[in-house]
Amino acid sequence: MAYDTLIIGAGMSGLAAGIRLAQFDRRVLILERHSLWGGLNSFYKLKGRMFDSGLHALTNFAPRHAAGLPLTRILRQLRIPYEALKLGEQAGSRLIHAGRELRFHNDPRLFFEEFARVFPGEIDGLRRLVADFPGYDAPPGGADCDDSARARLSQYIRDPAAVDCLMLPTCIYGSAREDDVDWDQFTFLFRAIFLEGFSRPEGGIKSLLDLLLARLKAVGGELRTNCGVRRILTRAGSVTGVELDSGEEIPCERVFSSAGHTETLRLLDPRDVPSAAPGRDPAHADQSRAPRLSYFESISVTAEAPAAYGYGDTVTFFNLGERFRYRVPTQDIDSESGVICSPNNFARTTPLAEGMLRLTVLANHAHWTRLAPDEYAAAKQDAADRMLAAATRAVPALSALPPRVLMRDTFTPRTLEHYTGHLGGAVYGAPRKSRDGTSGVGRLSLIGTDQGMLGIIGALLSGITIANHHVLAESLR
Ligand SMILES: Cc1cc2nc3c(=O)[nH]c(=O)nc-3n(C[C@H](O)[C@H](O)[C@H](O)COP(=O)(O)OP(=O)(O)OC[C@H]3O[C@@H](n4cnc5c(N)ncnc54)[C@H](O)[C@@H]3O)c2cc1C
Repeated sequence: MAYDTLIIGAGMSGLAAGIRLAQFDRRVLILERHSLWGGLNSFYKLKGRMFDSGLHALTNFAPRHAAGLPLTRILRQLRIPYEALKLGEQAGSRLIHAGRELRFHNDPRLFFEEFARVFPGEIDGLRRLVADFPGYDAPPGGADCDDSARARLSQYIRDPAAVDCLMLPTCIYGSAREDDVDWDQFTFLFRAIFLEGFSRPEGGIKSLLDLLLARLKAVGGELRTNCGVRRILTRAGSVTGVELDSGEEIPCERVFSSAGHTETLRLLDPRDVPSAAPGRDPAHADQSRAPRLSYFESISVTAEAPAAYGYGDTVTFFNLGERFRYRVPTQDIDSESGVICSPNNFARTTPLAEGMLRLTVLANHAHWTRLAPDEYAAAKQDAADRMLAAATRAVPALSALPPRVLMRDTFTPRTLEHYTGHLGGAVYGAPRKSRDGTSGVGRLSLIGTDQGMLGIIGALLSGITIANHHVLAESLR
């Protein structure tokens, strides 16, 4: 079978692009190196329990008939009925920065009231800032998309603590850039978190992935798991197919890659890499593309839901220091800031059988990869304990957690790199994005994280946008 498009990676962007292209009668095959699909947002079974590997919360909540919002647009384009997701809305979330606390939920008025209470002199600036956001219909990649959000915010808000309060959740939920966020990402993430809010599919990430896979098959797209791409084949600087880890070659007209910018260039013959100097590893051709920021996470299982020991938030972003620091830690982890969340704290028709609490902080990839196998397990337990101690300073109710824990799983940048192929376990990929999806190589497009749309909703939108663009361009040819 000859394929029009081969897609590297069955994460959110790869699945969405595959569905969209197949809906336009393109012959599509998705190639996934791992046995499971979902990429950074997948699922796994451990000691008889099912875990989501990524999902904290689905951002960008939209009510069923809301028009023009990312969630309802995605579902319409992929032809997935809204009801099929069985979304439960968040109970309510919190932002804790240097002793200040602001609550928010899916009605954005609460966040504005809280911001006015904590920063009375800055609320007009916040309102002006939001009024100046570009609309969702603005074309991606405008001239100011890479601008520093921090610098933009300072034109509206003077109090550095108020600026940090806005940077904390937007960095943690989607910035590949140290101590900052790209302006277009900031506007997307602010809307995603504070104006639209959080929800969770009733069955966790697997229920969303099942819906995507069923749609892919229904429209004739194919997925092969345990099928890594070893090389992207080219002739005269243009893609002709791929070679799998098994040595099998598959010809195609075009490749979409969700592996990441640098990771994708590494699959090419170095002579085809546009910016690589002769003899240099293409991965290091452009430092602005070098992925950096990664995370350490623990998932604790308890018999009771976290609300029983006093933790009722859906998501809590916390920062203990006076200023918010968002950069690669010099130590194994940086537990001064992070995110706490619980899948129990969403509205649902069937309660979860057990309690679950996730804690996540920035981590240093080099530190975790240096550890010998016999040091690794102990280092994970130690880091998880220190992370919990720090989170307990922000949320004292967590002091009741340790004696209740039935089991705790942890993952590090090393785990993330192993299961997703993202260099450095970098969740949000390269600091510099390729918003039009171009790679510099003919018939090779980037989708997902390094195209520049992040998170579950962002990655789905990325796959759809690049697929639509490609179909439109072909129809005009
Ligand atoms: C701990 C954690 C929590 C998160 N929580 C949330 C959340 O609550 N809400 C939210 O919106 N977002 C969250 N995210 C972010 C979100 O998961 C990602 O932004 C999004 O899933 C990225 O999707 P993607 O398609 O771009 O890439 P990926 O999911 O990384 O998919 C890429 C796929 O390509 C495959 N691949 C790579 N190289 C090859 C190759 N050579 N051959 C074959 N296959 C290959 C990989 O195995 C992978 O499956 C979280 C991420 C993490 C890690």
